[in-house]
Amino acid sequence: MAKPVVAIVGRPNVGKSTIFNRIVGSRISIVEDIPGVTRDRIYSSGEWLTHEFNIIDTGGIDIGDEPFLEQIRQQAEIAIDEADVIIFLTNGREGVTSADEEVAKILYKAKKPVVLAVNKIDNPEMREQIYDFYSLGFGEPFPISGSHGLGLGDLLDEAAKHFPKSGQKDYGDDVIKFSLIGRPNVGKSSLVNAILGEDRVIVSNIAGTTRDAIDSELKFNGDQYVIIDTAGMRKKGKVYETTEKYSVLRALRAIERSDVVLVVIDGEEGIIEQDKRIAGYAHEAGRAVVIVVNKWDAVEKDEKTMKAFEEQIREHFLFLDYAPIVFLSAKTKKRIHTLIPMINKACENHSLRVETSVLNDVIMDAVAMNPTPSDKGKRLRIYYVTQVAVKPPAFVVFVNDPELMHFSYLRFLENRIRDAFGFEGTPIRIFARERK
Ligand code: GDP
Ligand code: GDP
Repeated sequence: MAKPVVAIVGRPNVGKSTIFNRIVGSRISIVEDIPGVTRDRIYSSGEWLTHEFNIIDTGGIDIGDEPFLEQIRQQAEIAIDEADVIIFLTNGREGVTSADEEVAKILYKAKKPVVLAVNKIDNPEMREQIYDFYSLGFGEPFPISGSHGLGLGDLLDEAAKHFPKSGQKDYGDDVIKFSLIGRPNVGKSSLVNAILGEDRVIVSNIAGTTRDAIDSELKFNGDQYVIIDTAGMRKKGKVYETTEKYSVLRALRAIERSDVVLVVIDGEEGIIEQDKRIAGYAHEAGRAVVIVVNKWDAVEKDEKTMKAFEEQIREHFLFLDYAPIVFLSAKTKKRIHTLIPMINKACENHSLRVETSVLNDVIMDAVAMNPTPSDKGKRLRIYYVTQVAVKPPAFVVFVNDPELMHFSYLRFLENRIRDAFGFEGTPIRIFARERK
């Protein structure tokens, strides 16, 4: 089952991000250890007892230059749209404010469960501050303290009671799950329609659930596929649809459930910073990636244009050097038929396991060609390499001293592995460990 989603809403300074970080715990900092990536702290996974869920800090979604009240109204709308359960956070030290009442008014209209929490109740003596909050109309307020970590267990117990029994369904391992991500207007919805409209594609089911996320199931050459979160993508016309953090949130949610991610770029407009950030999330999540340059019909071109655009992509998306690029048009359908074969290939490589003996031959040849680095007279020795995981493929290099392994030498080994086995479309993880 896909994980339930909890969203935190509330006016600024009530402690949303403090609570978010508490619940998410150490996960975020682990992610941030990956060099070159700064994750927006708005979406992550959490755990409480046996429950796993995802959590959104709507306060982190800034809605342009809108006035303060409009911002929190839209954040509440996002919570209603995206979450299964909403935590409505208030500040016990300030009592009920008119901004709290505004948020409450929007949440009344939601057909989603709301759990009211009163934060900054740092000690038991302060508990009586919570009675005022009954006036907001969401029943019993839960006293908590984000800074002291108090009351969170009871709050999460209550939230978990409302987790849906049947959410989005999970698909079998033989089903290839892919999604299209990219900023608004690059043509994601048009591409989905073009794929579903292809001659040999059989659309088996547009599965509707009570949730607003709808996946499209299809068959091609006897293989089964699911396009993740198609309906979420179609959710147009919301005021906040074009805000950057909201597209990031949508992308993160789709990536999480995908094997292969199609990073869609607008060929007519070219690459902008936002494209890079969105692509970075797919890479970071370890998914297979195909880069899709859409609207190629609208580009004035000669025989050099494609090559030049490709160079630009390689320059801007250094970390995605393994991702194949396809230039196509959802409008004219040109090269749409190449997408599914590319998805297949990327998916195959994503779960490819190579034979240990062949792998070690490749590595030993590489070492013979380009000697290992040394430091203060001590040379790195590589004993053997083993593949420890798939999706994405991960390798451990056993050595005498991991300190001697330079990033550039790991990169060299990765390239040798790629030369030998392909792995086009998938990231590879490679680590040095000391042989005990
Ligand atoms: P947000 O704007 O709603 O995300 O609020 P923040 O999480 O940034 O918190 C706003 C301020 O309240 C910060 O200075 C926090 O340190 C403080 N704060 C958060 N939780 C508590 C709490 O439980 N008790 C107290 N005393 N302060 C808190
Ligand atoms: P999304 O927001 O990423 O889902 O983008 P849409 O699919 O809604 O497309 C945004 C706009 O780009 C619409 O006006 C589409 O008609 C247009 N569009 C989409 N694909 C193409 C294409 O291949 N060529 C051209 N010229 N326009 C396209």
